[in-house]
Amino acid sequence: MATKGCVFLMYHEIELPGRPLCQSEPGYVRYIITDQTFRDQMQWIKQSGFRVLNVSEAPNYPPEPTICITFDDGCESDLIAAAPVLRAAGFHATFYITSGFLGTPGYLHREQLRELEGQGFEIGCHSMTHPYLPDLPEPELKREIVDAKLELERILGHAIEHFSCPGGRYDGRTLEMARGAGFRSVANSRYHANSAATSRYELGRVAVLRGMLREEFAATCQNRGLWKKQFGGRTRRVAQWLLGNRIYDQLRAVLLRGPKQ
Ligand SMILES: [Zn+2]
Repeated sequence: MATKGCVFLMYHEIELPGRPLCQSEPGYVRYIITDQTFRDQMQWIKQSGFRVLNVSEAPNYPPEPTICITFDDGCESDLIAAAPVLRAAGFHATFYITSGFLGTPGYLHREQLRELEGQGFEIGCHSMTHPYLPDLPEPELKREIVDAKLELERILGHAIEHFSCPGGRYDGRTLEMARGAGFRSVANSRYHANSAATSRYELGRVAVLRGMLREEFAATCQNRGLWKKQFGGRTRRVAQWLLGNRIYDQLRAVLLRGPKQ
């Protein structure tokens, strides 16, 4: 098993039968897997003998094969779909919450957030309103990083130490503000495993996408062939830089929709 470094998996909403998703556009649904797929993936990890850690634990990089599990956005499915499966398997995980989404349809409300933490899961921050952070002027950036952190701390009554960037987008200013706000780590969505050589402020994560085949999932967890995704990721970042985030997203939405029937 090739396991140099620890792969951080990035999950989003989990789809439950008969329950509408928080959003319906193809660019969102692409990141959503079904409850059954999530169960299958957790079972595979369990059978494969990985230790599963949260973001506070994983960067100690123990010698045995480990996986770090993370969730973004703070959907209600964190508590009602993911948590029971993770607990049954004895897995740790970090849930990054978009503070301003709390209590809106499909997302956790405050009491559910406390319950998720009470079950032993780690809570991190995923901004206030989920914008692309490098696009923002200073006062808005502060609201998204500093105020979002304080909001979660008010609800949970203790320091929130880990941040993940909406859409994986970040720049030097973002990292500086996160560090200044007291975050001990920042995760993005660049396709690489992390190791002792990785900055805690640039933790890579691999998105688990809808339709990912079991073999691809296994290869991802074992850190095999991530360079191929890394190459695709670099091409995407160049396109984002050339086009700007907004035009890039519009173009991507058209491409994901495919040809009209
Ligand atoms: Zn997000």
